Amino acid sequence: MDKLQAPFPWQRQQWLTLQQARQRDQLAHAWLIQGPAGTGKMALLEALIASLLCQRPDRDGHACGQCRGCTLHAAGNHPEFLRVEQQESGNIKIDSIRELCGKLELTRQEPGYRVAVIAPAEAMNIHTANALLKTLEEPEPGNVLLLVSSSPARLPATIRSRCQILGISPPAHDDALKWLAGAAPEASQANLELALDFSGNAPLTALQMLHEDFSATQARLLSEWETLCMRGVEPVHLAAEWVKTPGAEVVIDWLMRISMALVHLKTGAGRQRLPDEIEASLRNVAEAVDLNQIFLYLDVLYYYRSLAGSQVNQTLMLEALLIPWWYKLQWPLESMINADPTRRAAAIWP
Ligand SMILES: [Zn+2]
Repeated sequence: MDKLQAPFPWQRQQWLTLQQARQRDQLAHAWLIQGPAGTGKMALLEALIASLLCQRPDRDGHACGQCRGCTLHAAGNHPEFLRVEQQESGNIKIDSIRELCGKLELTRQEPGYRVAVIAPAEAMNIHTANALLKTLEEPEPGNVLLLVSSSPARLPATIRSRCQILGISPPAHDDALKWLAGAAPEASQANLELALDFSGNAPLTALQMLHEDFSATQARLLSEWETLCMRGVEPVHLAAEWVKTPGAEVVIDWLMRISMALVHLKTGAGRQRLPDEIEASLRNVAEAVDLNQIFLYLDVLYYYRSLAGSQVNQTLMLEALLIPWWYKLQWPLESMINADPTRRAAAIWP
């Protein structure tokens, strides 16, 4: 099978769970595919859609590509395939959900399953999600809802509890490395390791980094961050640049890896995979910052990462995360956790 086609090796169990339920004719009517960014949730979603719309899937559940179901789906006009549109703002409108629920009650025109997709599911606010509840509680036979989320904690518990969960985790480092080396045969071993390290072993994020020449991005972030720590550039200025490229989510992940590398440097704990030149740059900062403050900063990063891609102003969020480095983390980090990051940044920065 194509290396870049789902299910990926680390999604095998999730794929089997659904296919075995299908073979027993006990397919749950709603599934929530959840897991961190870069683990291939959307690719798995597309493979599951194709599989469920196919009328003659193979023994493993893969779509045949030939039958009427597959042909209609490939042409983009399978009448039993429904996908809720996101607005430009990123939200899913309550009317879109009501319309979907109405369509799910109609008689099917084609044999097999009717598949409805809501992705990203956290784009529904509480009222929109509530509009879906009745459909989740009283499903019509043959309807399958597929929800996808990188931030399932932002979904109401009433929705999550009515879905069968397909949780995708990043693979172990060695498995991720093996897959990545196959998917990017031209990349050097050092760059494979670096991309995995900075993506938290999320293979698709790592692959994207390699395609975008991440070693150059990483070198740029490191050098500008060092300048920030030496007060050579203001956090406000840097945040405005970084939010454009490489974007808030990449920066937050990068800050997380840098912070963990600082912990390694200060304590000697953990496996050190960073290239020598990066380690040399970090050593100066490591000497100047307090270990407990780095742990607190990591807590802040975990909290802020759940907000990346949300309605929160991404530039102000990055400012709030960069300001503590200007003060070499001599900063009230405790107060940043569970506080609105945008207000926090604007209120405290002189
Ligand atoms: Zn087929």
